[in-house]
Amino acid sequence: MGKKRVLVGYGIDVDAVANWINTTDGAPQNPTNVSRGVYGATVGIDRLLKLWDKYNIKATFFTPAHSIESFPKQLAKVRDSGHELGLHGYTHEFVSQLSAAQQQDVLTRSIDVLTKFCGGKRPIGYTAPAWSTSKELIPQLAAEGILYDHSFMHHDVQPYFAPDSSESWIETNHAKSADAWMSPMTKIKPSKVVEIPANWHLDDWPPLQPIPGRPGAQGFVDTSVVEKLWMEQFDFAYREYETFIFPMSIHPQVSGKPHVVLMHERIIEHINKHEGVEWMPLGDMAKEFLEGRMPGVEVEGGVES
Ligand SMILES: [Zn+2]
Repeated sequence: MGKKRVLVGYGIDVDAVANWINTTDGAPQNPTNVSRGVYGATVGIDRLLKLWDKYNIKATFFTPAHSIESFPKQLAKVRDSGHELGLHGYTHEFVSQLSAAQQQDVLTRSIDVLTKFCGGKRPIGYTAPAWSTSKELIPQLAAEGILYDHSFMHHDVQPYFAPDSSESWIETNHAKSADAWMSPMTKIKPSKVVEIPANWHLDDWPPLQPIPGRPGAQGFVDTSVVEKLWMEQFDFAYREYETFIFPMSIHPQVSGKPHVVLMHERIIEHINKHEGVEWMPLGDMAKEFLEGRMPGVEVEGGVES
């Protein structure tokens, strides 16, 4: 048996009001929803910063450029406390709904805003708003020299190189004969971008953020249920792997709520009972993998065409 090594961290999707005003068709947003974003940027961020201080944790704040430009004082607190700032769109645009040119414009602008805000230090990480991605995403991140992404789900507790998007598949289309779609996926090839995987089962939004009328956004799940779901994943990984990563994804407007802060305290204390645990920003996990100190996996799949 080797020595256990477990890299644990929080990726915080700041979002603020950006996710609410990303209505995609210009439809006006309800000001009460916008106020939920203001709560996240102010009350939520303050409570999370206090939580990280209490447990001596450095985290990654994936921040839409709109949130930095709209709440500069709050994000300065994040930056000046030594947390990592990562990319998360300009106005939380769903990458899958943008043209390649729009994706590039959003990426260029958000890199520029974060770099200036951090005194010339370029961001190294990215997470796609709502984890809604595109075939252009990884090639564009690679071309910009972004070290890691946190949007894909090929694994849950191991780092790997994100596929370079050259693989292809054929969706079914009942308007055509079946022969038109019956063929395998082509071979997956790695890019140079590290993937610190995303995981809907380690995300506070679907169970704990109520959005009336939207299925899947229940919001009223007992935190003891969410805590159990998250800790079972940790306990399984701890039993099965000598080394693994455990990135959790949260939002200040959700996890800044009193009952959720208390849940995180219990989660952190449970994780801290384990030997070999190291808390770090997601960017440090990516460097550990890239520089060979943390093993990961290779994504397999597809066949040569
Ligand atoms: Zn987000």
